[in-house]
Amino acid sequence: MEKSETNLNFFGPNINPLKAYSWQVQCPPKIRHFIWQILTGCVPVTENLRKRGIDCDKGCARCGASEETINHTLFQCHPARQIWALSQIPTAMGIFPTESNFTNLDHLFWRIPTEFDSSAFPWIIWYIWKARNEKIFENIDTDPAEVLRLAEKEAQLWQSAQIELHNENHGSVDLVNQDRVRDFSLEAEYSGYRCFVDGFWKESDKFSGTGWFCTSSNGEPPTMGAANLRRSLSPLHAEVEALLWAMKCMIGADNQEVAFFTDCSDLVKMVSSPTEWPAFSVYLEEFQSDKEEFSSFSLSLISRRANVKADNLARNVRTEPLHITYVNNIPQEWLF
Ligand SMILES: [Zn+2]
Repeated sequence: MEKSETNLNFFGPNINPLKAYSWQVQCPPKIRHFIWQILTGCVPVTENLRKRGIDCDKGCARCGASEETINHTLFQCHPARQIWALSQIPTAMGIFPTESNFTNLDHLFWRIPTEFDSSAFPWIIWYIWKARNEKIFENIDTDPAEVLRLAEKEAQLWQSAQIELHNENHGSVDLVNQDRVRDFSLEAEYSGYRCFVDGFWKESDKFSGTGWFCTSSNGEPPTMGAANLRRSLSPLHAEVEALLWAMKCMIGADNQEVAFFTDCSDLVKMVSSPTEWPAFSVYLEEFQSDKEEFSSFSLSLISRRANVKADNLARNVRTEPLHITYVNNIPQEWLF
């Protein structure tokens, strides 16, 4: 990943501004995250799976091209080209779409003349990817015009929902989440265990950190865990890994009634609608089967401030030079 980044500086757009902007694209977080995955080369196309040693056909299942790269799937494969050509976004040889997904995203982010409505592009990308998966995993062929129609309809629905939300909340879209956070009172009585989880991820780090802090309703002293894992693909991957690891630790301690808490709203969304997050399917299968081990399981969103212990554990462990796992005997200063 780093190597191709260096190379790209010589002949393509600088990818750092692209990455930074990917978080500001006006669309749902799952699509924003997918765009970020495109920019970091973390989309499970066959080329990438083979690089990681997973045995699969190298070529494109849809058009028979000898190699399926991210750019091929989203911009150059025959159905993708047709979808872009049918869309309101102008296409022109050598300008858009091109051979480089960085140039293509640079174009979609900033270079479409304002007289064209390009606001549906994140959904177009997302639906091209969904159609590709339906073809590969279920052998369903969707007509390009239909894919475009779905994408544009979803875009429209989302955009009008944002306007309504904006009007209701006098400008603060985040109020929805904050209300949910406020509803949850940490002082309230509870039964079983509460397990606070957090992941910490920084692109420049060798490891990502995961931490959990568990309290008990029956007066047992709190337990905690911190582990640094090989740096995962993204901040959200680190959050999922933190949850999965905490779940395994709870199962190991035979804590069957556990309420988990995270400050990552995407993690809560992912767990409640797993099919919307195909890039995480392997994690989510593991999640589903581990979840069966609990007699009572929940995952709720809390504010970052309420999650400070797990956050500190995750933050501190990631800077350790070697791969380590602590359970229960965390250095005290890590908690504060
Ligand atoms: Zn193809």
